[in-house]
This record gives sequence, C-alpha cells and structure tokens, in this order.
Amino acid sequence: MKYDYLVVGAGLYGAVFANEAKKKGKKVLVIDRRDHIGGNTYTKEIEGINVHIYGCHIFHTSNKEVWNYINQFAEFNNFINSPVAVYKDELYNLPFNMNTFSKMWGIKTPEEAKKIIADQIKDLNITEPKNLEEQALSLVGTDVYEKLIKGYTEKQWGRDCKDLPAFIIKRLPLRFVYDNNYFNDRYQGIPMGGYTKIFEKMLDGIDIELGVDFLKKKGRFDAEKIVFTGQIDEYFDNVYGPLEYRKVRFETEVIDKENYQGNAVVNYTEREVPYTRVIEHKHFEYGTQPKTVISKEYSEEWKPGDEPYYPVNNEKNNALYEKYKELAEKEGNIIFGGRLGEYKYYDMDKVIEAALNMAKKELS
Ligand code: UDP
Repeated sequence: MKYDYLVVGAGLYGAVFANEAKKKGKKVLVIDRRDHIGGNTYTKEIEGINVHIYGCHIFHTSNKEVWNYINQFAEFNNFINSPVAVYKDELYNLPFNMNTFSKMWGIKTPEEAKKIIADQIKDLNITEPKNLEEQALSLVGTDVYEKLIKGYTEKQWGRDCKDLPAFIIKRLPLRFVYDNNYFNDRYQGIPMGGYTKIFEKMLDGIDIELGVDFLKKKGRFDAEKIVFTGQIDEYFDNVYGPLEYRKVRFETEVIDKENYQGNAVVNYTEREVPYTRVIEHKHFEYGTQPKTVISKEYSEEWKPGDEPYYPVNNEKNNALYEKYKELAEKEGNIIFGGRLGEYKYYDMDKVIEAALNMAKKELS
C-alpha cells in the first residue's frame, strides 16, 4: 500500500489526525473536495484582514492539553468574545449577565435580577426542561427569552424552540455578575495571522490533494486505512435517508470605513431581521486597516449538494445517526470523525480532543 492513512477532509479533525500520524512515521495522504485546507475554520486575507470565510471561529477551551497542542502552530491573541445583541431599537450585552439584566429591567443587583426571573417563571411549573424553550424560560425568564432567544434561535435552526434540544441553549453562560465574556473557558483567543496558517503547519510535509471528491472516486486510493471526516450519511449513500443539517449563507462586503459596527459580533435577535448576526472580521485581531470587511449570516435549511455547517441534533436525527453509526462500526478499516463524521455540534477544542484521543488509540 502506498499510504498508511488516507484522511478525507482537511479540516480540524483530519489535520490533527494527519499531523499525529506523520509524527509516528506514518505515510499519510490528505484529500479535500474544496480547493483549500482548513475546513470551515479557513480564513482568507481580504483588504489585509483575515476573513473567516465559513463563519466566525473563536478558539476557547478549558483543556490545557488542547491549548498547548494548538499553540504549537500559532500564537493566540487575547481576544475575548463579547457579542452585542440588537433587538429592534434596543441593544444588550451577551451572554446573559448582569449587564443584560440591568439594561432590560433597570436594576442593579443580582438579587433583583433573580427575583424578576423567578417571578416570570413561577407559573410555568417547569421542573425538568424538555426542550430549548422550557430550558431557556427556566433559566432567564420570559423577557430575555422573547427578546434575545426566541427569534434568533428560530432563525438559526428554522424550527420552533419547542422542537429543539435543551443543550443548545446551555452552550451559553448565564451569570449574575457583570461579565460579558461569551465563554467560561480558561483559555481563549484568535490565532494571530488567521487559522489557515495553522493548517499549513499541521500538514507540512504531508501529501495533499485538493479538489478531489472521495465519494466519487473511492476506488482510486491506495491506503491501509481511511479517516473520513465528511458526512456519515453521505458515505453510506443515505441508505436510511439523509440526516438534517443547517447551512449558513454569507453576504460578505468590503466597506470603505474604518469601523462599521464597533464589535466583532453583533447578533440580530428579532425574527423580522433576516440574518442572524453580522461579523466585522478586523475586530478579532484589533485591526487598524483603513477599510473593513463584514459578513451577514443567513441561516438556511440544508439540501443535498449544499455545504453542511450545523448538525440538527434533535431526537429524530440522533436516532437516525445511531443507525449510521452501526453501519460505520461494521465497515472495516475506517474511522469516522469530526462534526460531520460523528454528526455532533462540536466546538473546535472538542474536535481536537477527539482527534488526539483517536490518534492515541490508533497509533500506539
Ligand atoms: N442564542 C440565542 N441568542 C443569541 C445567541 C445565541 O438565542 O443572541 C442561542 C441560539 O439558540 C443558538 C445557541 O444559543 O443556536 C448557541 O449559540 P452559539 O453562539 O453558541 O452558536 P454558534 O456560534 O455555534 O453558531
């Protein structure tokens, strides 16, 4: 065999696995159907600004091993994500914290905020939240839910909040302190110079073929084992029917202004505004370029042939995924990994952790 491993997909899972395999002296070929490496974390320079082409990626983790690992490939700046939410003509800090509550209700203390939330939910009798709506209401009450969660979530997922899993909203911190940090993690930042450089380093010395669709050319490759990071349902020709995904459409424009919105991330939480958020890329790296680049994000239902971004991890899809996973376990000499291979709403640090664990198991 020419290669020990064929890695399908040059995103984070594939690149980490490939790098680990190379370190163990394995011969690796990485292929991707896109014409670039980096998967959805890919960044491209426009007007001197590193633009997050497939949506913004802010690195955050509490896992020291993962943090040390990624820091081998880039230096991270001290960016802290503090999005702003616009609801009609009102503006709030995210995540849900004392700044949000103070602005919403004109109060100052945590006790006042907790009392208002408790009063708002006392008649709802939610003991064990069964879905995203119940989870959100039980955490932050009706005002925050109606203004900052309901519209955004329904745009983002194209589904009613009652039909979405509770865990999605638990991604966001809820705090009764004045702290706008969107994450609770110990380590956070943006790689200075963009994400693509990380992948160039990870894949240095490894054979790469871009613009190659593995599923159309399965027989062409000569490798002992495959690491597949594409869609698991597509790999199996959708035999049980397709899993559902959300895709994101971006309207990216260069604006002849130094500073457009004063923040990297501004969420538009009302249903009537068609996009979910506007990203101003330069602010991730404290850019001082004379122009700016912004991307409006429109969340849309995915259909075959589109780029998948988010797995829709509700009960129906998770059950379907389990069937594909059974097939995967029976398929010899192949590892399925990453957001698409494992059909999981993974953050970057969790993808790295999963790939490192798999590499340890596989290469020891
Ligand atoms: N969310 C919300 N309002 C906001 C931001 C997020 O209701 O202004 C909810 C929404 O349901 C979203 C989830 O929180 O899907 C997770 O948001 P996150 O920012 O983690 O999503 P990502 O950055 O992965 O798109």
